[in-house]
Amino acid sequence: MLIVRTIAEARAALRELRARGLSVGLVPTMGALHEGHLSLVRAARAACDDHPGGVVVVSIFVNPKQFGPNEDFAKYPRTFEADMAALEREGVDLIFAPAAEEMYPQGATAFVEVAGVSGRLDGASRPGHFRGVATVVAKLFNIIEPDKAFFGQKDAAQVAVLKKMVDELNFGLELVACPIVREPDGLAMSSRNRYLSAEERRQALVLSRAVREVERLAAGGVTESSELIAAAEAVLAEEPEVRVDYCKVVDPDTLEDVADTQHGALFAVAAFVGTTRLIDNLVLPTRA
Ligand code: AMP
Repeated sequence: MLIVRTIAEARAALRELRARGLSVGLVPTMGALHEGHLSLVRAARAACDDHPGGVVVVSIFVNPKQFGPNEDFAKYPRTFEADMAALEREGVDLIFAPAAEEMYPQGATAFVEVAGVSGRLDGASRPGHFRGVATVVAKLFNIIEPDKAFFGQKDAAQVAVLKKMVDELNFGLELVACPIVREPDGLAMSSRNRYLSAEERRQALVLSRAVREVERLAAGGVTESSELIAAAEAVLAEEPEVRVDYCKVVDPDTLEDVADTQHGALFAVAAFVGTTRLIDNLVLPTRA
């Protein structure tokens, strides 16, 4: 496993690998890896097996541009040694772990903005967040030039923003969204879960309980968004200390509210547990 810190080194390593006819799968992360991240690595590895000897690249970069001024950039967990050990076990070929100055040299002012969708769900509560995400992912795509890039459905709004970016800016790659990986008790895995106290960890379960309730109702034939939202809010109210940021049923591509889920929809919830902001969601398939 090769670890590179500069854009020039990454380009040189990939040039050599591509010259051997290998295809490239990219998994962008901010490190502090857990099984959710590793599921993306395994999906990348499996996809590359279609082309024997494909290359799996993982980027590790805590992107300052996607954190708001009062967010957790400084305290975001950084666990590089443990991350390297886990990625080595997964058979990853190349790690790209640049410093902030490598990605954003002094005076850099270019950015990528996917207007509209970037201001919805998490984008509404975290102004500028998706501009930071789109910018860094566009840079990673230009540096690594992957054939496929793997993202978690856990960050459903991020997937919507990036799919639109790939489509409209003609990035020649396939964006693959992978299912949410959960703890055995249902909590969606997140690097931020390690901020939770034992009591907050217990309270946090209310998000996945709300998701399961929506899943149960939808399986029973409920398609009216207002009914699904009311049921989810009733579950969320079981933990009065948990402060709901949003609880919505939206179009999975535009992230705009939909009144009915018949044609497919996304149920998405975000809430503060203590000072930690957690998200969860469920894709509601089109009803035949
Ligand atoms: P992050 O390091 O938080 O930026 O996440 C890197 C990638 O891992 C993103 O595409 C996330 O959506 C994905 N990811 C994070 N948590 C999970 C999870 N529990 N299940 C699946 N994918 C995840």
